[in-house]
Amino acid sequence: MSELPFLPFARPEIDETTIAGVAEVLRSGWIASGPKVLAFEQALSAYFGGRPTRVLNSATAGLEVALQLCGIGPGDEVISSAQTFFAAGNMIVKVGAKPVFVDVDPGTRNLDLSSCARAITPATRAIMPTHFGGLPVDMDALYDLARHHRLRVIEDAALAVGSSWRGQRIGSFGDITVFSFHPNKNMTSIEGGALVVSTPEEAREVEILRFHGITPRPDKTRDVAVPGGKFNLPDVNARVGLGQLARLEEFNAKRRLLVAHYFSCWSTDPPCELPHRGHSGDESGHSWNMFAPLLPLARLSISRAEFRARMQARGIGTGVSYEPLHLATLFRQFGYREGDFPHCEHIGASTVTLPLFTTMNEGDVERVCATVAQVLAECRA
Ligand SMILES: *Cc1c(COP(=O)(O)O)cnc(C)c1O
Repeated sequence: MSELPFLPFARPEIDETTIAGVAEVLRSGWIASGPKVLAFEQALSAYFGGRPTRVLNSATAGLEVALQLCGIGPGDEVISSAQTFFAAGNMIVKVGAKPVFVDVDPGTRNLDLSSCARAITPATRAIMPTHFGGLPVDMDALYDLARHHRLRVIEDAALAVGSSWRGQRIGSFGDITVFSFHPNKNMTSIEGGALVVSTPEEAREVEILRFHGITPRPDKTRDVAVPGGKFNLPDVNARVGLGQLARLEEFNAKRRLLVAHYFSCWSTDPPCELPHRGHSGDESGHSWNMFAPLLPLARLSISRAEFRARMQARGIGTGVSYEPLHLATLFRQFGYREGDFPHCEHIGASTVTLPLFTTMNEGDVERVCATVAQVLAECRA
């Protein structure tokens, strides 16, 4: 075992001001959704260029509400990439629609837009792309395609809070954008998510869908016309989110610094495939939620699981983002199988997420690089 402290692959940074703020909320007597939620929504809306923003208790809830908001259900198709988190495919199935997966670009690991165009049918209602790892999808090409076919766009921006495309923040333009504040993301509210929409009417509809579908009657009793969920964010979480949002630019700058250090220290034999560094001329638009090289498994005598075990034994945690969605039991029922999406399957089989969080220092990055190089050198086939 290593003498050095264990390095997980992700860890939130919560400051004392935020902790004191949470204690104040707890003492205030109002701990469920209330004034802190309103303040958090206003601060987020300002961050996203004034667009209407509503918070929920997860991004997964945000994806479900977004699909409901678009009126998507049985008989409809939604296109998503097979290289994303289960939540995207799950929510498409949950509202009764058909998930239509397409492969990713092997460089950016984002939805391949030419495959997406070929997958459009008369039943297609929406495209649900993921900004993988914080690197935006080509927003010009995405929205050209969506406009041409009159499709809604639900951006899964769970990993992309603070990312931008040609200088415009993700969430500050487009159709519907969904963010996550899970502890592994670039900012957290413990659990939580946000939905950015285009009009006050849509924002009102989100409020109804996130809280039982309840609307007021003139006689002050309540009515329900749609089966809404219970997705409201508590004030305790909103207070954490406010403290985090205030530091988001600082957090993302630190992530970019650590990633730059990863690129400058990285040297392995056999070589790995490193992640895309960001759109050329616009590299600062990448918010770097994760640093995930692809292992050269064909040139190693060990599996990825064994590689991860050896890293763990040396005090370094790793993750897998993500398993190919189409090969999960749920989605195989729609007819997907091995070989459907070669880029996604290659990434899914060989990707490994390495430590990247704001309280790391450059020495930690050097330690990870040296340990990976050591393990790969030991296990050359
Ligand atoms: C984390 C994540 C989600 C889910 O976010 P929650 O807030 O945990 O529901 C969805 N999509 C992607 C791409 C994610 O990384």
